[in-house]
Amino acid sequence: MKYDWSKITSSAYLTLLELDLHEFPIPANKIKCKNVMICSYQKYSKKTGCSIEKITLGHELDDAFLLKGLRPGLTMILYDKEKYGARLKHTLWHEVGHIKCNHKNHGEQEEIEAHFFAAQANAPNVLIKAISQRGYAITIPFLMECFGLSEEAAKKKKEYLNKYGFEHSNEYDDVVLMQFNDYINRKYPPKTTHFFDDYYDDMEREREKW
Ligand SMILES: [Zn+2]
Repeated sequence: MKYDWSKITSSAYLTLLELDLHEFPIPANKIKCKNVMICSYQKYSKKTGCSIEKITLGHELDDAFLLKGLRPGLTMILYDKEKYGARLKHTLWHEVGHIKCNHKNHGEQEEIEAHFFAAQANAPNVLIKAISQRGYAITIPFLMECFGLSEEAAKKKKEYLNKYGFEHSNEYDDVVLMQFNDYINRKYPPKTTHFFDDYYDDMEREREKW
């Protein structure tokens, strides 16, 4: 199987930029997707008079699922609002990921891609890198607190970072950093002079190129 991680990251970052989000954790009700109706089973059941059992038919164990073709051009994400907050957020981003990646099927590859999209939208690697450069230890409790991740998602993120590090840069890194700049400065002011040293080293290197 071939994965284009960079493209999925771009798509997740673009989604954050489009939604005009400026701080983390992102509340579940701010997770949106253009031309997609996001509605809870509970509300949809009330609106349509359909029982939740009927709505979730075939999806009893899922926190959310995508519904297409009910009306032409209508895509819906239905979710269970009784589910625990942090997990629900990952699930919503996961479904948005299926849409943004233009998935036609729901196989193993699509699942992995949607999970990766959710992990990047929920806790962008570029921001974790920026915070770590400011002298903060990126631990599982830190990821849970900062980005509102579930313990499961935080563990996966940590495993990913241990394995792959921060070396993957993305075309939208700088724009995402700019959008969340105030948030990072307010919540994670640099702890180390090391941060400034690096900063000046970078500037020095820039200057040498002039
Ligand atoms: Zn899925």
